Amino acid sequence: MTETEGRKWPPGTQILWRYRENGGDRIHICRPVTVVRDTDDLLAVWLAPGTECVRPALADGRPVHLEPLATRYTAPRTVVRDEWYGMGVLKLARPGEPWSVWVWWSTGWRFQSWYVNLESPRTRWSGGIDSEDHFLDIDVYEDRSWRWRDEDEFAQAQQDGLMDREQARRVRAAGRAAIETISAWSAPFADGWEQWRPDPRWPVPALPDDWDRMPARSEVAAG
Ligand SMILES: [Mg+2]
Repeated sequence: MTETEGRKWPPGTQILWRYRENGGDRIHICRPVTVVRDTDDLLAVWLAPGTECVRPALADGRPVHLEPLATRYTAPRTVVRDEWYGMGVLKLARPGEPWSVWVWWSTGWRFQSWYVNLESPRTRWSGGIDSEDHFLDIDVYEDRSWRWRDEDEFAQAQQDGLMDREQARRVRAAGRAAIETISAWSAPFADGWEQWRPDPRWPVPALPDDWDRMPARSEVAAG
């Protein structure tokens, strides 16, 4: 039993939502977010517009998606800080589940779509959660239709050795499990999160200088 195990973050707590680089241990995505709800069944956080975040970039600073797919994962990279652009994003994650569900709106709070980000179950530590992105994603629409997204990147990542056959098989299976929840229209899709709005009193969280620090073992909680 570690010190942080079982402890919940009260709504309004600022934490970090981070991803490790694929095929490495370093953090390459860090998003300061505000806790909306933290229970045994759900961690919900808000990524506010204008939040300073860290994301990977090509060595010359250009966005990663501008690199042709064939060399996207082998071209030298760095990380850059910049502000989260556009509307904010609500992220919903069930502890232990190998995906999180993101809610997207367009200007004027018009609900746009859900997005299932396949990722490793999140590790919880005193400052937030860490995960690893699994390339493959699913778009989900208001009419309950869905489609795989970024299958080309998923295939390329396997070709470049960032994911072996066995892991790719597990990721695809996780995707199919997520699609079952979509087909059943169960949580979180049926829970009305499209109507949710952030508390206007919440300040935009700041990116700490030590955004990439590795938590000590005593800071990491199970589950
Ligand atoms: Mg993804």
